[in-house]
Amino acid sequence: MSGLEPSSSVAATGRPRFLDARGGRIKIQPEDVRGRFMKWRRVVYAVLVVHLLALPFIKNGKHPAIHLDIDARQFFLAGKAFNAQDVWLMVFLLAGFAFGLVFITALAGRVWCGWACPQTVFLEGIYRPIERWIEGPAHVRRRLVEGGWTGRRIALFLFKQSLYLVVSLILAHWFLAFFVSAPVLASLVVHGPAGHEVLFGIAMVVTGLFWANFAWFREQFCVILCPYGRFQSVLTDRKSLVIGYDVTRGEPRGKLAKGPGAPYRGDCIDCGRCVRVCPTGIDIRNGQQMECIGCAQCIDACDEMMIKVGRPVGLVRYDSLEGFEGRKRGPILRTRVVAYGLVCAAALLAVGLNVFALRTPFEANLLRSAGIPYVLEPTSIRNHFELHLINKHVDAVEFEVSVVGPEGTSVIVPQPRIKLGPLEGIRTPVMVTIDRARYHGPFELKATVKDLSTGQTRELGAQFRGPPAGPKS
Ligand code: SF4
Ligand code: SF4
Repeated sequence: MSGLEPSSSVAATGRPRFLDARGGRIKIQPEDVRGRFMKWRRVVYAVLVVHLLALPFIKNGKHPAIHLDIDARQFFLAGKAFNAQDVWLMVFLLAGFAFGLVFITALAGRVWCGWACPQTVFLEGIYRPIERWIEGPAHVRRRLVEGGWTGRRIALFLFKQSLYLVVSLILAHWFLAFFVSAPVLASLVVHGPAGHEVLFGIAMVVTGLFWANFAWFREQFCVILCPYGRFQSVLTDRKSLVIGYDVTRGEPRGKLAKGPGAPYRGDCIDCGRCVRVCPTGIDIRNGQQMECIGCAQCIDACDEMMIKVGRPVGLVRYDSLEGFEGRKRGPILRTRVVAYGLVCAAALLAVGLNVFALRTPFEANLLRSAGIPYVLEPTSIRNHFELHLINKHVDAVEFEVSVVGPEGTSVIVPQPRIKLGPLEGIRTPVMVTIDRARYHGPFELKATVKDLSTGQTRELGAQFRGPPAGPKS
């Protein structure tokens, strides 16, 4: 029946379980599975969901641990403040994450997809449990679909979709909290969308995207959209730890047959359980496939069957391709894996050093004002400068500014003390004058900016200029 998955394995139809005869999508109803990996995945999902949801609400000082105020171009991360000039750090951070993912993939295949990707975590940790709770286990859901649109099915469908919408709404608001901060978001929720139409619109669009993805699109995101899945085959090699089926041990597969005259069979009893629990609808016995998200559900399913028929577990297991071929497993840490790890560590170290050790808590520059380089008065020469100051603390801080020149120079700093809020910046004028009689050529000025909260100072230099010949009045 089009739109319904066959309960038999892929071998029965000769095509993937997620495609119908015309190449259309078949909605997968993965069966429930219990086992050691499922247990650990649930623990990991719970920890990740709690952490992810708590992040915008955890405060580090006065600001949330993560607050990305794109509108004001102010970013607060782990108790540090960043502005648009710090975007270069993102290049290193993204490179670190990218090589971290490459490192993990070369080491253990798509372990990220099955264990930590938000797509899997939210789908398997929140949305599927809601489906199971409302509509029952896979065989009941399948029967429900096969029975057509009965009144009961419509009622369950509407209830399920309403809950999906509520969860999507919560997740969308949680997502927005990263950008507008949790207290601002709470006030927006309390006071309604009036006056915040754009934010409300974004919240609704994100809700719609979450709902469409987790209620309908689901495994297609991993199978069709996600570029990482396309890369995995070039990132893993014969020594990478992957989930696979032991062909030597399992074949020839066949229904359990005992007694004298029973044909010789491998350990695979062709029960199809590993296929029916697979959330992307593939048959792991067909070898490594791009659609496999490394969730390990087929391992638990097969172990369960092996225990039932009294055979050793591990027919489907984590192993290297060399291991599956019965060869001695080589070292997991190979040269290229170590190289990926080192690049990842170097990129993250560069970010860490810049954020936690080398970072200056304020930026200051003394620049000549735009326009003419000096002003000739009847008895004096005047230079105009501008002090650019940015506070990179997460709190308001007061700065002390002083400028000195050689004897005879007169300095006017209209704001010798400046108080700036977090990531606030200012451009303040500095005027320096010298008698024309005392001017004998360009000379250096020294400006000092002192951060009164830490006592840290910064010395700045600028050149005083006058007419080339040093004219006397
Ligand atoms: S083949 Fe196994 S590990 Fe891969 S997605 Fe299916 S159930 Fe998960
Ligand atoms: S669960 Fe194990 S025994 Fe059953 S079909 Fe899959 S590999 Fe064979």
